[in-house]
Amino acid sequence: MSATIISGTETAKAIREELKQEVADLLEKHQIVPGLVTFLVGENPASQSYVAAKNKTAHALGIHSEQVTLPEDTTEAAILELVAKYNQDAKIHGILVQLPLPKHINETKVLYAIDPAKDVDGFHPVNVGKMVLGEQCYLPCTPHGILELLVRSGVQTSGAEVVVLGRSNIVGKPIANLMLQKRPGGNATVTLCHTRTRDMAVHTRRADIIIAAVGVPKLVTADMVKDGVVIIDVGVNRIGMSESGKAILAGDVDFESVKEKASFITPVPGGVGPMTITMLMKNTVQAAKQAAGLN
Ligand code: NAP
Repeated sequence: MSATIISGTETAKAIREELKQEVADLLEKHQIVPGLVTFLVGENPASQSYVAAKNKTAHALGIHSEQVTLPEDTTEAAILELVAKYNQDAKIHGILVQLPLPKHINETKVLYAIDPAKDVDGFHPVNVGKMVLGEQCYLPCTPHGILELLVRSGVQTSGAEVVVLGRSNIVGKPIANLMLQKRPGGNATVTLCHTRTRDMAVHTRRADIIIAAVGVPKLVTADMVKDGVVIIDVGVNRIGMSESGKAILAGDVDFESVKEKASFITPVPGGVGPMTITMLMKNTVQAAKQAAGLN
């Protein structure tokens, strides 16, 4: 048996088409253009390319996007002042501060300064708290993307044994939380593993669904999974460089061996990655609608 590949690229494309239509309808029926501002502080090349990709996607969907580019030595006070300005700007519905910020800036202080109604990354404690309570809020983009992949692929999560590997605030903890809630993509029995877990394979071998978000290349091998498992591989690990100078990426799962036992599996690249930016756009459109009292 070889697994069905869950293509994040294709799923993201379908969601972007839906969003494009939604943005066009908002303009035609309500004269609303969703607006997103991205903050880029310093010259981290990975952050530069993430922010560029976010702006490009926004533009392609008809979302107004602004980029605030600041030098490495910008003070915390200056960033807080700019965040406060965009909190008041009616054209802007979503504010995204690209992480990591330079070391002299307190990231928590900056993220907490964003108006929760414009927190399209879903990192503000108000949104995190609402998520845990199962209330309407902005879901963090990567876990939100994982839920969409599972639901749109027809994976049965209700009653499933789900094992999440990794307990970060941006992936592991929120996806574990979302999958135990009473909602589509939820109702699972969830186990969360981390570096202090005594024997990870004991858990992964009985899992119906494994969500791997550890940042360790090919940590999950075929002997650690049962036949028919569903694999969502969040990991993005650089394992080398091609002759043409392109980074060679691997996930947290040994794709080649595990795909022979799995029923569904996401590839790296082309799995969870393309979904993350798409869900940021979805949250921005949701923010624009909420600001206008439309949902
Ligand atoms: P992170 O903050 O570094 O957290 C990693 C988690 O994995 C920690 O909880 C750590 O446990 C656990 N872990 C590390 N090594 C382990 C091991 N050998 N056994 C068991 N648990 C282990 O990472 P993250 O930000 O969640 O990201 C995880 C991966 O996903 C990275 O490769 C990242 O690049 C990728 N990612 C991809 C996307 C996307 O859009 N595709 C988005 C976000 C992240 P402790 O807590 O005990 O240290």
